[in-house]
Amino acid sequence: MLANYTRSAQALSDLLQREGVEDKEVLKAISQIPRHIFIDDVLKHKAYQNTALPIGQGQTISQPYIVARMTELMRLAGVKSKVLEIGTGSGYQTAVLAKTFDKVYSVERIKALQWQAKRRLHQLDLYNVTMKHGDGWQGWQSQAPFNGIIVTAAATIIPPELLAQLADGGVLLAPIGEAEQKLTMVIRQGDSFTEHVIAPVRFVPLVPGDIE
Ligand code: SAH
Repeated sequence: MLANYTRSAQALSDLLQREGVEDKEVLKAISQIPRHIFIDDVLKHKAYQNTALPIGQGQTISQPYIVARMTELMRLAGVKSKVLEIGTGSGYQTAVLAKTFDKVYSVERIKALQWQAKRRLHQLDLYNVTMKHGDGWQGWQSQAPFNGIIVTAAATIIPPELLAQLADGGVLLAPIGEAEQKLTMVIRQGDSFTEHVIAPVRFVPLVPGDIE
């Protein structure tokens, strides 16, 4: 553990606030979570910088600003309780969700990453998260419906299974596109789905099909 992480995490939270993140619960979560435990030893010195970093297996831990912003957008859209995350990766976004929503489900297709993330969340005493090794395109049918669905890898299209697993009034947030990706929000009202483009973003791809 970095001895002075509390100061570093607080400084990161302050930086995100200056960058425009307003939600107090999100800022508090960022200031409390030791991001360095989600990162390999050689890169730990960069843990509290506002940058994405490699986490192995060709994947990345997302930039803290985007983690905070996506969480804030879900909260602004009125999501409170049950959230599904697709692409657990390091587990950092999962930890932020665990601190800001009552119950979190998270799906990851690479088993090694899923195991590591699970250990990290237990280390932080975050027990309101249920994780699954599986293909995120399929969502998590047996736990549906979800009030919020957050996808942290870029899909070519909005995965239809995920839309089907949104609760009435629920919100999905996902990067959509290939070379050019757009963070897209979909709000469900009954059988109608309204799409809003939020901002250009850059995520690793949501891999179709099989799990590893
Ligand atoms: N929120 C994570 C982002 C990790 S990168 C973090 O900040 O650490 C995106 C993750 O999505 C990777 O771990 C990748 O393995 C996972 N992923 C890609 N395609 C997937 C799929 N079809 N189902 C589940 N997870 C997937």
